[in-house]
Amino acid sequence: MIDLHLHSTCSDGTLTPAELVAMAGRKGLKAISITDHDCVAGVGDAFEAGRDAGVAIVSGLELSVVHRHVSLHLLGYGFDWKNQELAEKLTRLQHSRDKRNREILARLEAYDISISYEELATLSGGGQTGRPHIARLLVEKGVVGSMNQAFTDYLKKDGPAYVRRFAYSAEEAISVIHRAGGVAVLAHPVQLDRSLETLPQLVAELTSAGLDGIETYYPTQKGKIRKKLRQIAREFELLETGGSDYHGDIKPGTAMAGGIRFSVPVELYERLQERLTVK
Ligand code: AMP
Ligand code: ZN
Ligand code: FE
Ligand code: FE
Repeated sequence: MIDLHLHSTCSDGTLTPAELVAMAGRKGLKAISITDHDCVAGVGDAFEAGRDAGVAIVSGLELSVVHRHVSLHLLGYGFDWKNQELAEKLTRLQHSRDKRNREILARLEAYDISISYEELATLSGGGQTGRPHIARLLVEKGVVGSMNQAFTDYLKKDGPAYVRRFAYSAEEAISVIHRAGGVAVLAHPVQLDRSLETLPQLVAELTSAGLDGIETYYPTQKGKIRKKLRQIAREFELLETGGSDYHGDIKPGTAMAGGIRFSVPVELYERLQERLTVK
């Protein structure tokens, strides 16, 4: 069993890369990938911890991109995490996030909610910082009762403290991942289209842009949904990947793959490795 979709303290997860690797080791997972949002700073630590724990590591990241005004998440796997161009692209994202975070805090200030930039930086630990961290501070300060309320009352799209942020196009992101030697995978497709009716068209367009795979195994993609997604993967000759999207215990009810409720077969990792070695 494997888990190719995990978030660490390098983005909005609560466990460090080494802690995630140790947990995977305890669960007996054969391979994992830490796919932090717009950030590869945890990949080096993951490789190091993986060697000690006997868990294979695939370099990973999750990029928020746009395609025809639709926001979607792309997973990158197996790239050179020290690639210069990738690092530059991610730095640009971090700068735009930084500016955006300051604007969100200014908007909250207008509602007499005081969060300093330093508090936010301390909580996030200096890695990728975004709305989930601001939501946590809103909960800690008692402004709202839950993360979810922080989003519905303030941070959601078009909410009173919402600020847009810069994103690369799907096409550009896929090319950058390719040039860094990796493969690009559409994350949790069910979140884009619950009915999956418009998905084949989207997948067709992304495949023309170079998409290599889709995430077919995901906790909310079971039964008929998974079956349909696997069918789409076969139709477009795409790799299949899978993971839990575990962020630590901050999101109640979520867990790393490997239990009875959700697991991902090791064959997906083997196919991915085959593809990466021929690249
Ligand atoms: P950002 O990248 O800073 O725009 O933040 C986006 C992240 O916020 C998403 O990846 C989710 O993890 C999180 N998020 C979005 N909506 C909600 C919500 N209603 N409750 C909790 N987390 C959310
Ligand atoms: Zn996240
Ligand atoms: Fe995602
Ligand atoms: Fe994710």
